[in-house]
Amino acid sequence: MHQLINNSLNAIWIVGEEGKIYYCNRACLELLRVFSPENILNKNFCIFLPPDIHEICKDRLRRVLEKKEQLELLETKMFRNDGEVIEVELRTAPCYLGDKIFAQVIVQDITHRKKTEKLLNDQGKLASIGQISASIAHEIKNPLTSVKGFQLLKESQPHFYLDIMESELDKALATIQNLLHVSKPDLFEEPLVPIELCKELNSLLFLFQEKLYNVNTELLFRDSERNLVGKRNLLLKAFFNLIKNALEAIPDKGDIKIEHYYQNGFINIKICDTGVGISEDMLKKLGTPFLSTKSEGTGLGLTQVFTTIHEHGGSIFVQSIIGRGTVFHVQLPCD
Ligand code: ADP
Ligand code: MG
Repeated sequence: MHQLINNSLNAIWIVGEEGKIYYCNRACLELLRVFSPENILNKNFCIFLPPDIHEICKDRLRRVLEKKEQLELLETKMFRNDGEVIEVELRTAPCYLGDKIFAQVIVQDITHRKKTEKLLNDQGKLASIGQISASIAHEIKNPLTSVKGFQLLKESQPHFYLDIMESELDKALATIQNLLHVSKPDLFEEPLVPIELCKELNSLLFLFQEKLYNVNTELLFRDSERNLVGKRNLLLKAFFNLIKNALEAIPDKGDIKIEHYYQNGFINIKICDTGVGISEDMLKKLGTPFLSTKSEGTGLGLTQVFTTIHEHGGSIFVQSIIGRGTVFHVQLPCD
C-alpha cells in the first residue's frame, strides 16, 4: 500500500493536526522540487501556499479532521522550494492511518491548463473588442464623411475656423480609417504569398535608419532559409509596429536584438529591446485599441499586431521588466 502511494503519479500529501506534513510521496517531492522528504516532514503545509489562503486552508483542514468531510476542489497558487510559482488544484479527503484521522491532499499542477485558458480568453476578448470597435468606427465614419462634404461652405463663406474644422475632421477620419484597418484585417483580402521573412526584416530596419543612430542592433537569423506563407503587407506592418515600439521604448541609448529561428513547425521571431519596459497592469491589456502611454501614440499598433498574428494561426508572448526591457516573441506556423 505504501509502495503504491509512493510511486503514484499523483502528488500526494498526508497532513495531520495543525497542518503538519506527515507524509509526502515522490511525485509530490518532485512537484515541490524538494530533494528529500526530511526537508519538509513535520513542517506546516501552509509554507507552500500564499498567505491570503492560509485561513481558508486551516478551516478546510478542520472540516476534514473534525467533520470528516470530503472537500470541494480548491484552485490556488503554490510556491515551489526554489521560489517558482505554479497553479494547482487541491483535492482533499479524510484518510485513516491506524485509528488516527489525517487529511489526504492530492495536488495537481494546472499551470499549463491555466495558461491555455488565459490565451483563449485573451484572444476571444481581443476578437470581440476588435469587432465592437470596427462597428463603432463604421457608424462614426458615415456622419463624419457627410460633415466633410460641407467644406464647400468654405468657398462661399470663408472662415478661419472652417480650416481648423477641416483639418481636425481629417484627423478624425484618418484615426477611424486606421482603426478599421487594424481591427478587421481580413476585410482586406490580401492573397497568401511566400514571404522571405529575414530579408523583409532587414529592409524594415532600413526604414528606421535615423532612429538607429543611438541603438545597437543585433540580428540573429538562424533559419533564414525557412519561408512563411502569409499576407505580406499585414505581416510586414505587424513587424514594423513591433520594431517601432522597441525603438520608441529606448529613450537614449540601447540595444535591439531580432532573432529568427525554426522550431517544431513554427517560425519564431523575437524582438528584444533594452527599453523602458511594460508594467504588469499594462501587460494584461496589451492589444486593446487606443491603449497608449505615449503623448503622440495611437494605441493601434499592437491591436494590428495581435489580430494579424492570430489571423495567421500564430501566437504572441510578451515578457517585460520595468527599466530593463521587453521581449515580443511571435510564433508563426510554417511547414
Ligand atoms: P503606440 O505605440 O501608438 O502607443 P501600440 O499599440 O504600438 O501604440 O503600443 C501600446 C503601448 O504598449 C505603448 O504606448 C507602450 O506603452 C506599450 N509598448 C508596446 N511595445 C513596447 C515596448 N517594446 N517597450 C515598452 N512599452 C511598449
Ligand atoms: Mg506603436
